Amino acid sequence: MDRFDVIIIGMGPGGETAAERLLAAGRRVAVVERELIGGECAYWACMPSKTLLRAPEARAEAARGASYHGIPRVIFGDPEIAATGYTTGQARARGIDVVTAEVALADAIARPFTYECDPGGTFGLLADRQRGVLAWAWAVAPLASEWIHQAALAIRAQIPIGTLLDQVAQFPTYSEAYLAALEQLRL
Ligand SMILES: Cc1cc2nc3c(=O)[nH]c(=O)nc-3n(C[C@H](O)[C@H](O)[C@H](O)COP(=O)(O)OP(=O)(O)OC[C@H]3O[C@@H](n4cnc5c(N)ncnc54)[C@H](O)[C@@H]3O)c2cc1C
Repeated sequence: MDRFDVIIIGMGPGGETAAERLLAAGRRVAVVERELIGGECAYWACMPSKTLLRAPEARAEAARGASYHGIPRVIFGDPEIAATGYTTGQARARGIDVVTAEVALADAIARPFTYECDPGGTFGLLADRQRGVLAWAWAVAPLASEWIHQAALAIRAQIPIGTLLDQVAQFPTYSEAYLAALEQLRL
């Protein structure tokens, strides 16, 4: 007659895990399952329910479509060059009532002096005057690849300029340049 150290009744995830660990510990294990090895999770619960959910999820994703508006682009030079949104020409071609701002970073904010000995850098914004949202941002400055994402999100989500002006920037950061440039837009 066979002899076992452990008999496991039920081979759902709980039984399977117990069997696996006992076998790994060198025990002789017998299992008893009255229906299907895998239990509720594999046949009625976790996996089938996720399969049912996936089809409507995929359909919703397909209906949403892709948006290429506000994708950031960067040249990792020294300094970095970053931009997002339409250029002035593209904005005008789309009939946007263009208003622009440009700030010399060393004149406008403190962060350039904490970053390098001979600070420079320029940051520009282009806004849609009628709609009160940003349409383009560009920067030639240290770490521009990082802080351009603030503009990328604002352009993509069409965040109102009033909301952007309410935002508090950490001091001292290059992100403070947004407030300086947004104020210059005078919208
Ligand atoms: C709709 C739904 C979705 C879920 N989604 C998730 C999820 O996404 N992620 C997650 O972690 N969990 C999920 N769960 C929970 C998960 O299914 C359970 O936690 C898990 O199956 C429990 O495992 P178990 O081994 O304890 O029991 P069961 O899976 O119920 O296994 C028990 C086994 O014992 C057998 N058995 C019972 N009595 C006897 C007997 N007297 N003799 C022989 N065999 C017997 C049964 O036939 C069965 O195969 C979901 C549950 C549901 C209902």
